[in-house]
Amino acid sequence: MDLHSLVKDSSLIQSGAYINGAFVSAKSGATFDVTNPVTNEVIAKVADCDASMMEDAISAAHAAQPAWAAKTAKERANILKKWYDLCMENADDLAIILTAEMGKPLAEAKGEIGYGSSFIEWFAEQAKRVSGDVLESPFADKKFMTLRQPVGVFAAITPWNFPNAMITRKVAPGIAVGCACVLKPAEQTPLSALALAELAHRAGIPAGIINIIPGMDAPALGDVMCRDERVRKITFTGSTEVGRILMRQSADTIKKISLELGGNAPLIVFDDADLDVAVEGAIASKYRNAGQTCVCANRVFVQAGIYDKFAAALTEKVAAMKVGDGFDNDVVQGPIIDQQGFEKVERHVADAVAKGGTILTGGKAHEMGGTFYEPTVITGAQKEMQLYSEETFGPVAALFKFDTEEEAITLANDTIFGLAAYYFTKDVGRVFRVGEALEYGMAIANTGAYSSEIGPFGGVKASGLGREGSIYGVDEFLEIKLMVVGGI
Ligand code: NAP
Repeated sequence: MDLHSLVKDSSLIQSGAYINGAFVSAKSGATFDVTNPVTNEVIAKVADCDASMMEDAISAAHAAQPAWAAKTAKERANILKKWYDLCMENADDLAIILTAEMGKPLAEAKGEIGYGSSFIEWFAEQAKRVSGDVLESPFADKKFMTLRQPVGVFAAITPWNFPNAMITRKVAPGIAVGCACVLKPAEQTPLSALALAELAHRAGIPAGIINIIPGMDAPALGDVMCRDERVRKITFTGSTEVGRILMRQSADTIKKISLELGGNAPLIVFDDADLDVAVEGAIASKYRNAGQTCVCANRVFVQAGIYDKFAAALTEKVAAMKVGDGFDNDVVQGPIIDQQGFEKVERHVADAVAKGGTILTGGKAHEMGGTFYEPTVITGAQKEMQLYSEETFGPVAALFKFDTEEEAITLANDTIFGLAAYYFTKDVGRVFRVGEALEYGMAIANTGAYSSEIGPFGGVKASGLGREGSIYGVDEFLEIKLMVVGGI
């Protein structure tokens, strides 16, 4: 695959780190391969940065941040709006780059570019609405007020499953309020990050405000981010395991932290659900991105009265899903990102079958070969199965049977995770009862698709800290300062 020939503007394909407003090679000259997960073909060689380059990037961000913060919010907002416009103008190319390095179907990639760009537009608008308060003073001669000020330099680490949106959801709010950032993208998907940097550069975001440092040695790069006193905040999206490491490493420098971590989403179908809505919702939630999203349904709990009908209707739709190269027409499911991810799916399915599960469709590697896996439905799922307690991160729906509402809530909450939970019912009372009882950051009734820039995205328990997007998203990048003026 010659990626340059697929896009209209090949200068969006960058291979250097973006530090202090310039694309640069690794100091050592080292590069790493970016591959297409469909063919395993190398599509680019990208700078493999070491810890000293991360330090350079932090220095650049630290030097540039005060002047950026000193601009008016409107000035910053206007530059961010240009960045948004450029992303939308180049949406087709950004989607092609994303599909080439990550494998999701092109239509889904285009959807992600729209979704990712919406955070830039939204936070350009929100930047102008950051304000403090004048407080009612308890003293006649003193005034009390609060200022909301940028934290300074923040570090971001992002995953491969949303190579565009996980970056904009962090970078846009941070820079909109006057911070500067250093970002390490996932090693599988650095090209989407670097294309965003190229467009930010064209939009006029000053040198040093956004720095992108790709590299294979994530622990070394992350360690520098956490230990440097000049970095005042860490924002991370990825696995709970790595989130714990970053939290520990940030303890010495007492950083502000937000973490978007793993999930183990329940999807509950009650007897009184609209069957078609529940099946559509389950497909949207479970099979999007080949099951590789943190909010994908991982455990499907179905009430006994509708269990067989739901299983049959879901199976019919899932069996008809077209699997293939994301660049081919009508493909709705691409490959699993890598061999390790593929083996986890195989392991979960083998374990489920060994413990009594029945495969209604799928259940094995797809004939496309490589890391393609058949969209799968398993009935007779049990609590003892690995897929009950671990995120499968693949296209496998495991159906558990339950009898009562109370039992469904207990099962749904029986996990250390608490990101998204879905449920389907036509009973309005139940919508509220269940929504309030679910120990999750996001309780979603009667739909499987809901992500947008206006909804606060985030989890509780081992799924993380903080919220991204929405009117709350800027809070993660601001400190509240009390100002008291006496002698009035
Ligand atoms: P991951 O292994 O935690 O990797 C995420 C990022 O962390 C990558 O950039 C990775 O770099 C980096 N990293 C790995 N080890 C590190 C270390 N010791 N120090 C610093 N950085 C380190 O997760 P993943 O497999 O890419 O992503 C899947 C996970 O992300 C799932 O659990 C999913 O649920 C979660 N996720 C959560 C959300 C959310 O919003 N809550 C959204 C998407 C995904 P390398 O690529 O170089 O290894």
